[in-house]
Amino acid sequence: MPKKKTNNSRPSNAGRLSFPDDERLHPWLSLLLEGYYIVDKGIAAAIEKEQKNGRKPACGRGCSSCCKTHKDIPVYPLELTGISWYAAEKISGPQREVLRENLRQSGKDDPCPFLIEKACSIHPVRPMACRQFNVFGNPCEEGEDPYYTRRGDVLSPVKKHVDQAFFIMLPFYGVEKESERVRVIETGAFHRMVRELHSCNWKSLAEKMRDSD
Ligand code: SF4
Ligand code: SF4
Repeated sequence: MPKKKTNNSRPSNAGRLSFPDDERLHPWLSLLLEGYYIVDKGIAAAIEKEQKNGRKPACGRGCSSCCKTHKDIPVYPLELTGISWYAAEKISGPQREVLRENLRQSGKDDPCPFLIEKACSIHPVRPMACRQFNVFGNPCEEGEDPYYTRRGDVLSPVKKHVDQAFFIMLPFYGVEKESERVRVIETGAFHRMVRELHSCNWKSLAEKMRDSD
């Protein structure tokens, strides 16, 4: 998925993205950012390992055909909360207008509405699925989904880190006790909450953005 510098945020000392004022207001945001930090660390380690084996990452800035091709991107309720917050409160200027229009018109067969000028407009809070989708070798052809055309070039998710991330995020869903969180992760029960990015009601987010202007 396309790489872009983050804005409106700063890395904390530990290297995770940090929005101190917003995190004080929204405790769920810390769970989300902490989870993403763990996933990102796992991905970085997995990519480094592949590079040591001579594999060349294909994903880079401006490379974004995956954001137009993929129509089944899984997204969890906490992630949707993060996306709505970021879009409504952190995106400004001309990009805000473009995003609102994308969200207003977004249909199931369209490119991801958050793709603006070949970059992810919600990059700091893009879903875990987008963070994990990394390809080696050649960049994807227009319309290619390498998961089907060359599975061996797609980075395999690091389950240990993904499970750790879900463990941290579960209190958002009311699952607080550690033993209960472990059980929920082992059974995979939380996957029942997953949504599909393209089928979300983005028109209501466009309205929320308009209302908060
Ligand atoms: S190489 Fe493929 S998966 Fe990677 S950023 Fe480019 S289009 Fe997306
Ligand atoms: S949220 Fe959309 S634009 Fe951003 S990386 Fe994912 S598919 Fe691409």
